[in-house]
Amino acid sequence: MSSRQLFVTTALPYANGHFHIGHIMEYIQADIWVRAQRMLGHDVYFVGADDAHGAPIMIAAEKAGKTPQQFVADISAGRQQYLDGFHIAFDNWHSTDGPENHALAKEIFLELKAQGLISTKTIEQFFDPEKSMFLPDRFIKGECPKCAAQDQYGDSCEQCGAVYGPTELKNPRSALSGATPVLKTSEHYFFKLSDPKCLSFLQNWTQDGKLQSEVANKVREWLTPNEQGLSGLGDWDISRDAPYFGIEIPDAPGKYFYVWLDAPIGYLASLKNYFDKGGPRSRGDARSFEQYMKDEKVEQYHFIGKDITYFHTLFWPATLHFSHRKTPTNVFVHGFITVSGEKMSKSRGTGIDPLKYLSLGMNPEWMRYYIAAKLNAKVEDIDFNPEDFVARVNADLIGKFINIASRSAGFISKRFEHKMGTLSEEGLALVQHLQQSAPHIAQGFEQREFGKVLRDIMLLADRVNSYVDTHKPWELAKKAEQAAQLHQVCSACIESFRLLSLLLKPVLPELVQEVERFLKISPLAFSSAQTLLGQGHEIGVYRHLMQRVDPHLMDALFEPSPSVNTEHDDAAPPPSAGPGGTPIEGVIGMEDFSKVDLRIALITACESVTGSTKLLRLSLDVGEDQPRQVFSGIAAHYKPEDLVGKLTVMVANLAPRKMKFGVSEGMVLAASHENEKEHPGVFVLSPWPGARPGMRIR
Ligand SMILES: [Zn+2]
Repeated sequence: MSSRQLFVTTALPYANGHFHIGHIMEYIQADIWVRAQRMLGHDVYFVGADDAHGAPIMIAAEKAGKTPQQFVADISAGRQQYLDGFHIAFDNWHSTDGPENHALAKEIFLELKAQGLISTKTIEQFFDPEKSMFLPDRFIKGECPKCAAQDQYGDSCEQCGAVYGPTELKNPRSALSGATPVLKTSEHYFFKLSDPKCLSFLQNWTQDGKLQSEVANKVREWLTPNEQGLSGLGDWDISRDAPYFGIEIPDAPGKYFYVWLDAPIGYLASLKNYFDKGGPRSRGDARSFEQYMKDEKVEQYHFIGKDITYFHTLFWPATLHFSHRKTPTNVFVHGFITVSGEKMSKSRGTGIDPLKYLSLGMNPEWMRYYIAAKLNAKVEDIDFNPEDFVARVNADLIGKFINIASRSAGFISKRFEHKMGTLSEEGLALVQHLQQSAPHIAQGFEQREFGKVLRDIMLLADRVNSYVDTHKPWELAKKAEQAAQLHQVCSACIESFRLLSLLLKPVLPELVQEVERFLKISPLAFSSAQTLLGQGHEIGVYRHLMQRVDPHLMDALFEPSPSVNTEHDDAAPPPSAGPGGTPIEGVIGMEDFSKVDLRIALITACESVTGSTKLLRLSLDVGEDQPRQVFSGIAAHYKPEDLVGKLTVMVANLAPRKMKFGVSEGMVLAASHENEKEHPGVFVLSPWPGARPGMRIR
């Protein structure tokens, strides 16, 4: 099998706000697909960018007292924490305001013009006399011409659903200044999509079987001529007048490309930026961006939401084809994500805040697994249901998958010097069944049938668990004469666990990296399914790989943010001794602070202390040879099982203290109010995802 070359993108997020859960869903879908392709040995360039241009950003920037460039840069600076947090591994992230995009957009426009596909027309548009600018439809408000509802937008009525042009609104006013807009003429540039050569190209490109059937059907409706025998496709208005934040049209002073012309060109611009920075070269690809894009073997894929299908299946392929460029191999359209059946609303800010999810210490791979379990290759909406989330993650990932290792690894380590043994005939048959399933699972990933893939993997895990339940290693371990059998059973479990980890790797990349360390193996790919660890292979010490979801976390996730509450809380705060009940301590210098050695610690074990209601005994891994024993007065607030496997912060150079129950070799950091009666709760600190045991906090 020769390796494929894939250029993959996700839709470019509009840079007027932070990522919401809908973005994260799309990135998870594309990231899983990309990782699966790489595990099959294919070469993938996976890029994204901020969609920076357009009137809404220009207006938002003005409100914020920033230049549009600064406004976009500030939004862009916040992107990486989301991407890192959810393990979304773009090769490059760029902006449609980058120089590559300015150059490419102009180049493409001139090529379309040379093809005779650009025309100009004088149109009448609403103009805000106070702001001295033409108003986008969404910035005109007035009375619905059909039902007379007040305060409706210039393009459609939210009350009766009517669609109309902004000039049909009654009593129109500018949403920017409140002024009554006036009609003014302006010359606009158009892409002649109604040209017969465009239509015949699009007929063929959209109906040759590559698109999802729902998408192809929808496009056919758009392309179908109406009663007048005219194509459903009108010419596309691609210009806007100054002031506009965008790319200037060559030889047309004061005219800018409409943001939707240059936004998808941003895919190419981000890839070009990656090439120019030497990304592909460092991966052994010596071609230039132009050479890469001209290579017929290169496949081009776009993951998008259903709301932008029109742009990606009509405008975008036509733009590329008539500027003599590679057209998309396919466009993969997904539905929206609802939360407990409710559509997300940007304005009400409901749904799930991805950063809050991360800051609560919730495992990003729970989210990746849950979203993947819901996704298929169709354009269907998926629903995030909190109870279902808890049940699925705990039952599948912990109950079925992680448990296989946690029930067998300890025996291999303690009883057989970490070495794998032989397999029984039954064990071998089990393992071979998993091996034979790998190509089918790989195909499921390729087809984006993630939900089905995960169901199939969990059926395989069920087989392994029933093998464990039949042979009961914990029973075998009780009798010395059954040692050989115990070794066989546990070896079959670990071989199976390795294969299941391989199959889950596109979805759970971080966890499987931990598994690779634990099993002392090189990174798993689909070809690794043909091999086994084999007799004599030495594995590492098993550490708990993943926590169960505590349902209380879901309450915290959906709790309204405190800023919303305090807004309505007009009772004056009581005079206090300071924030948190104590005044801030006197100023210290950096050298004083640096004496306190704070480290990230992994809580590897935790137990209650007999004879104490206050204390918990914690074993902390700070990257040293031996774990540390620390006593912490948090027993009233945390159950031992809630803490095991979590990362926290400890003072690592505190003098050891001899206590009634043993020596405490450090201190775990926790927050509380001075007046615990009125402000109850003790909160153990925990770092953001990505921190590792032993890292210093400065
Ligand atoms: Zn109406």
